[in-house]
Amino acid sequence: MTDDIALQIEDVRTRMKQAGGNSLLALRHVELVAVSKGQPISKLEQALKAGQRCFGENRVQESAEKWPALRQQYPDIQLHLIGPLQTNKVKEAVQLFDVIQTLDRPKLAEALAEEMQQSAKKVPCFIQVNIGEEPQKSGIAPQDLAGFAQFCRDTLQLSIAGLMCIPPQHESSAQYFGLLQQLALRNNISGLSMGMSGDYETAIRFGATHVRVGTAIFGERALAG
Ligand SMILES: *Cc1c(COP(=O)(O)O)cnc(C)c1O
Repeated sequence: MTDDIALQIEDVRTRMKQAGGNSLLALRHVELVAVSKGQPISKLEQALKAGQRCFGENRVQESAEKWPALRQQYPDIQLHLIGPLQTNKVKEAVQLFDVIQTLDRPKLAEALAEEMQQSAKKVPCFIQVNIGEEPQKSGIAPQDLAGFAQFCRDTLQLSIAGLMCIPPQHESSAQYFGLLQQLALRNNISGLSMGMSGDYETAIRFGATHVRVGTAIFGERALAG
């Protein structure tokens, strides 16, 4: 681990390719979502200079402070919301983000659908699945996913681009990645956002289309989050 962000990004991208191995997986594009929550603008600028364009943030307010100015300079930035979204922040979130990865309850789905209609901006969403069925974690329970996905697509006309999960801590992630992959297949959902700094290579072996990598690129976070 160096503090050179360009080198860190290159290292992560190399490992991502290797994780695909010689299989067909290697030919598939996996999006590296650089998780920039809690990181200062100077580090974001280094990542942008190194060619990174896809970023993940977990707070609407922090994103509103950091990203609009950078977007003026780099119009092709893709910003993903990867943290919980309160319904009173939906309007701002739809304006700010290109993808919302944390669609985790019916009320939020309704609020997003209404806001997207009013603002005439369609933002693709990932459904967050509470893959370990942990009471303290948000997300749709695996057994409720089929009904929720149908509600989002058919009733609300939301664009469901994928599934997202954060597996239980202190357990091996592999089994949970496998479960999420099964759920996506069963529900005909193509995107799979899974894997963080410690397990993104495993996630790729289980078919991740998006990995969310923070500390392995930027180092420890200075700000809370
Ligand atoms: C912070 C965060 C990450 C990145 O975690 P690292 O361990 O720093 O790579 C990924 N996903 C979510 C939802 C996060 O909140």
